[in-house]
Amino acid sequence: MRQPIIAGNWKMHKTVAEALAFVEAIKPELAGATAAETVICAPFTALASLAEAVKGTPIRIGAQDLFWEEQGAYTGEISPLMLKELGVSYVIVGHSERRQYFAETDETVNKKVKAALKHGLVPIVCVGETLEQREAGETFQVVEQQTRLGLAGLTAEQVAGLVIAYEPVWAIGTGRTATDADAEEVIAYIRGVVNDLFGAEAAERVRIQYGGSVKPDNIAGLLAQPNIDGALVGGASLDPVSFIALVRR
Ligand code: PEP
Repeated sequence: MRQPIIAGNWKMHKTVAEALAFVEAIKPELAGATAAETVICAPFTALASLAEAVKGTPIRIGAQDLFWEEQGAYTGEISPLMLKELGVSYVIVGHSERRQYFAETDETVNKKVKAALKHGLVPIVCVGETLEQREAGETFQVVEQQTRLGLAGLTAEQVAGLVIAYEPVWAIGTGRTATDADAEEVIAYIRGVVNDLFGAEAAERVRIQYGGSVKPDNIAGLLAQPNIDGALVGGASLDPVSFIALVRR
């Protein structure tokens, strides 16, 4: 059985003080056992304080990006070693905003995934089609290519332990969620791609989330689908009450 994983992606929101206030607000509700694993992917500046604040709880902390080298002349970048030292467990790789605004490609995603795994960070690898691609009937082709190239060169065991997030770009921050059936269809397809590339065991074990305008009132239907193992949540993860409702359904 795959444990569902609910990950909040705060994007460029929350100062350290705001991040700590959020954690103090959710701790009474989420510090015990929950059916879903809880992850907060925060800005780099808040990671150290958050990792300290969630010590002794099952809440895990994630970064939103990383660079693939361990150190060097890469002004402005953050290495996997630096994240690991802070107590970070997860790292989002290839979010569509990074692909769109920061020239992330499937090749750089692959380098980052490998670097994360090498240093014991669990990558949350984002894939998903744009509205244009969906309307052109290219959804399956796009997610297949992103999955193939993003995971190229990994072992079946490595793939089994990571997380894939299917995030249709047209659903992110738009209030327009994929239907339960549409999300399930694409996620089942991605699981099939993993099966073809890495075998049945990896396909059975890898967790695949849905992301795109997930809210407390639409998460239940999505998570009831057999192939959907949780959600990557942007906007609705910023408010403690709504985040608690997403994790404790
Ligand atoms: C995201 O940023 O990964 C996301 C899914 O955002 P939202 O939930 O706001 O659509």
